[in-house]
Amino acid sequence: MTMKKLSNIKPKKSLGQNFLINQGILDKIIGTAEVGPEDTVVEIGPGTGNLTRKLSEKAKRIIAVEKDRRLIEELKDKFHNSNVKIVEGDILKLDIKKLFENCKLKIENCDYKVIGNIPYYITSNFLRTVFEKWPKPKLIVLTVQKEVAQRIVAKPPHMNLLALSVQFYSSPTIIGYVSKGSFRPIPKVDSAIIRIVPKKDMPTDKDLFFKIIKAGFSGKRKQLKNTLVRIFASKEKTVEILNELRVNPDSRPEELSVESWLKLTTLISTS
Ligand code: SAH
Repeated sequence: MTMKKLSNIKPKKSLGQNFLINQGILDKIIGTAEVGPEDTVVEIGPGTGNLTRKLSEKAKRIIAVEKDRRLIEELKDKFHNSNVKIVEGDILKLDIKKLFENCKLKIENCDYKVIGNIPYYITSNFLRTVFEKWPKPKLIVLTVQKEVAQRIVAKPPHMNLLALSVQFYSSPTIIGYVSKGSFRPIPKVDSAIIRIVPKKDMPTDKDLFFKIIKAGFSGKRKQLKNTLVRIFASKEKTVEILNELRVNPDSRPEELSVESWLKLTTLISTS
């Protein structure tokens, strides 16, 4: 049987396949995640195994989930008899608890790290999946599209729904930028390494928080006194509550920090 080399497989655009070839960047990802001999790591999209190889030298064990069947056999060969378990699957659909059970692992909150150079179009979907469906990871380190990273870490007056959604669950920071040339094939966009630390305690009523931020960002007349009427019975009441929080009722949702939205949520749920 002739063994097909990984490099002979034609990368699929539809799966966001841009493989990281810059060793310095691979090291930076691993350094950012502070991977050590105690760590269990879930890697998203091992691809040709560049990051996986380095992870396997540092971590206790790696569970690497890859959607592209063409890559699976070779990855399994490559990491045969190692601390890497290659799993074929779609990370957005996978039952993570079952996966841990299958690996005979009992994973508690904050007991594992999530690392990956992910396909960029799944970024927000993937983060939502982790935050809402998975046991809480200790740390998440991803390479994502530069502009998306910047939206995720946004502060007032540039807040947006993605930033608020991620910052509700975690504290994200950009660690550094990665130029297109670090990947093969070379992508159209630049990238960033992002470090996301999940919050220990969920501060407030999640459903209400999301209902309020969606109301706040809805419609064309985006002054808070106009959009939040949907939540409060009347404009008078809305203005009164915003004043109580020392938020100018004329301000726009981009100007409010996650803390202000959290305060608003607490106020509504207790009033
Ligand atoms: N980590 C590798 C590959 C990055 S490319 C490297 O840095 O070189 C992104 C990888 O994610 C590809 O291998 C692609 O097949 C895989 N992928 C795409 N969608 C996926 C999904 N939904 N679940 C798991 N893996 C996925």
